[in-house]
Amino acid sequence: MLKIDNVTMRFGGIIAVNNFTADIKDGEIVGLIGPNGAGKTTVFNVVTGVYKPTEGQVIFNPGGSEGIISDLRPDQIAKLGICRTFQNIRLFKELSVLDNVFIGNHLRLKSGIFSSVLRLPNYNREERKMMEKAKYLLQKVGLYEEKEEKAFSLPYGKQRRLEIARALATDPKLLLLDEPAAGMNPQETQELMEFIGDIKNEFDLTIFLIEHHMEVVMGICEKIFVLDYGISIAEGNPGEIQNNSRVIEAYLGVE
Ligand code: ATP
Repeated sequence: MLKIDNVTMRFGGIIAVNNFTADIKDGEIVGLIGPNGAGKTTVFNVVTGVYKPTEGQVIFNPGGSEGIISDLRPDQIAKLGICRTFQNIRLFKELSVLDNVFIGNHLRLKSGIFSSVLRLPNYNREERKMMEKAKYLLQKVGLYEEKEEKAFSLPYGKQRRLEIARALATDPKLLLLDEPAAGMNPQETQELMEFIGDIKNEFDLTIFLIEHHMEVVMGICEKIFVLDYGISIAEGNPGEIQNNSRVIEAYLGVE
């Protein structure tokens, strides 16, 4: 599904990501972990086109149509089927819960500017469908009852779900979640783990996630990559990562 191929990202003298390679297969839930400043979000920014890698490339292969995406703009990459959430939730805070998801649908809008301004029948039809889809997604993420509330009024855990619903509205094949459990209490974290498994199955997703909650990473990821100072120090299944001496050293230091 995704290949990050020897990617290096430099910012002036800082090497945020150094020669990182990762392979993600269709249908997997894959984790990316590492101490603060290890380069995890930079990897997401490279995959989603926010940054062009200094070296290396990213290849996206949904349904057998392989292509290099590291030359594309973020909107082009999103159209191909990669969508993300952010470490610091980025919702349209003053808009309703429903409108936040409705906006996500616009990436797939076929009608042009004229039919939307003139509200031609084809646009109205599409808009009705988009609204139905937004409502369906809100039901799926358990936010239908709150659809008319403003996004900022939701508690933290629900705002995270809303951000995921908006991402789902773009019909992604690969969903990138940047610290989805950040700030959640144990109950919310538990629910989130079940929720991620549910949406993966329901929407046929491949999921790549950054997370500091080890319970989440070890509980739902089949494969984990570990970065430290921009360098990949380990990859493997949860058992292998938990027992890897380099990973333990990176997190806890040498005794
Ligand atoms: P955290 O877990 O704290 O979110 P992270 O693993 O996601 O950290 P990054 O945010 O990718 O780490 O940052 C990796 C390094 O790159 C850090 O030293 C950071 O300061 C640096 N960095 C990231 N983006 C930029 C930028 N746009 N300009 C300069 N330096 C940057």
